[in-house]
Amino acid sequence: MSGMAINEGSMSPSRGTRKRSDKDTSSAPRAARGVAKWVIPSLYSPCRVGIGNDLHRLADGRKLILGGVRIPFDKGPVGHSDSDVLAHAICDALLGAARLGDIGRHFPNTSPQWKNSSSLLFLRHVRELLEAAGYRIVNIDATVGLERPKLAPYILPMERKVAAALALKPDQVSVKAKSGEGLDAVGRGEAIRADAVALIQICS
Ligand code: MG
Repeated sequence: MSGMAINEGSMSPSRGTRKRSDKDTSSAPRAARGVAKWVIPSLYSPCRVGIGNDLHRLADGRKLILGGVRIPFDKGPVGHSDSDVLAHAICDALLGAARLGDIGRHFPNTSPQWKNSSSLLFLRHVRELLEAAGYRIVNIDATVGLERPKLAPYILPMERKVAAALALKPDQVSVKAKSGEGLDAVGRGEAIRADAVALIQICS
């Protein structure tokens, strides 16, 4: 993308490149126009990508918390902390992008410190780790796999809570939901799963 921008600006019309119209005054690459302003000044800094996922068994009487949002349901994930699979997958994606290990290394499930703790604390701590290592978060995309209940009413609140925990703008976080189509442990209503991808950038 950056190479495209340099060529557009430096090649002369006599070499056959398209001449910009009077209205076409942006110095940003065409694909970047319309992208939120927070991205454009840093388009040329090196980026790193990371992936994360999490899977927990569902059990009766457990709280269902996703992205820090409490969702009314008669089952919830079993685990040491609040077992927020969305937050955990995002933590692993961010840690992986920065090559800072994984969530188990930073928040071991044998530590009483994290017993029943909110996973929003994990997100905040991971943000601090990335900042200390010289990275900023560009965006996060995540998908939650859950057979029931439907998560559509909670998507926006989840995006906002995750963004707030990571000191991001809401449009830097995308959360989606999928059912298991009656297949595998998610589809049978026995488990909840989340997958996440994170893009981070070296602070210039
Ligand atoms: Mg987990």
